[in-house]
Amino acid sequence: MPQFRYAYNRQNDLVDVLELPQDLSGFDDQFTCIGCGTPLIAKTKGEKREKHFAHKANQRATCSEETYLHKLAKTTFVQVYSDCLDNNEAFCIKLTHQKICTKFSGPLGHPCHIGTVTKEHDLTRYYDGVRLEPRDGAFVPDVIIYDTHDEAKKVYIEIAVTHFLSDEKRGSESRIIEIPIESENDIDKIRSKRLTESDASFINFENRNAPVTDAECECAKHLYFCLFIYESGKSFLEYGTLGELEAKRKKVAGSVRYESLVRATGQEAPFLEQGHRFVDLIEEARARGFPVKNCFLCRYAGRNWSPRAADPVYCKITKRTCGSNEAVQCDKFRVEARQDTR
Ligand SMILES: [Zn+2]
Ligand SMILES: [Zn+2]
Repeated sequence: MPQFRYAYNRQNDLVDVLELPQDLSGFDDQFTCIGCGTPLIAKTKGEKREKHFAHKANQRATCSEETYLHKLAKTTFVQVYSDCLDNNEAFCIKLTHQKICTKFSGPLGHPCHIGTVTKEHDLTRYYDGVRLEPRDGAFVPDVIIYDTHDEAKKVYIEIAVTHFLSDEKRGSESRIIEIPIESENDIDKIRSKRLTESDASFINFENRNAPVTDAECECAKHLYFCLFIYESGKSFLEYGTLGELEAKRKKVAGSVRYESLVRATGQEAPFLEQGHRFVDLIEEARARGFPVKNCFLCRYAGRNWSPRAADPVYCKITKRTCGSNEAVQCDKFRVEARQDTR
């Protein structure tokens, strides 16, 4: 038997039974059910049971709680939002914005994710109109809020009691705020004039990246290795900040055929790490299908393990040391037959 907290009064405004006085003698009003439209009795005196609206005995069976909650939520939204507009009060949504620095997201493809920031947005500043169940093209949203000077700027408000948004609506480009309502208590979310991401889903609220200042930029501080393989076939590893590598890249762009970036771990001295990373990135280039020729890939090459050596390769054919780019002009170059376990 549904007992409700809310009903319409004679003026069709919403009434919260908890806000009615205990003694209703001399209180001249009539209450109607939001769900089924039949008269309700306000029960405000009970000691044990909480205040509530009750149906008359013969109407109990025909009233659907689902219909009640859905209509109640829509009506509450329109009423609360209209009151905000009338009284210059804010109706806020609280959204999480990604902080992504795009300073180096260009050619080097390296945006840095700094974290998130939460911001409040007052909807009434953007949308100064509200309507219940307007037909809007193919959709009949529960509520629409819109800019009265440009109705193309709008947000659909959808109340989800049991049915969540259809894929069709979800797939549309409109901004939608979907508010799940499971019980009368959830109405408080709307009455609080503030919706968070745990209260509602915010669909198609794009442009959610927060601006990042240079001071917050994390990526500019870190050191990277970048492998460039040139038109000539030669491979070189550059070491520096993304800014330095970007500058280098611009200078050589016309003659570079392959590039790959990796962040320095800083766990070993740069010249040591440089040696390892160079070989890693050369192998990666080959694994990605780039026809790289480098002695580090050659079956006839041994390592000259002196990290500072200008000639890091010992060639078993010529029996001398050389730089790894020797492979570019060497007709003995053969890629090592490896037991690839990767
Ligand atoms: Zn009813
Ligand atoms: Zn950055």
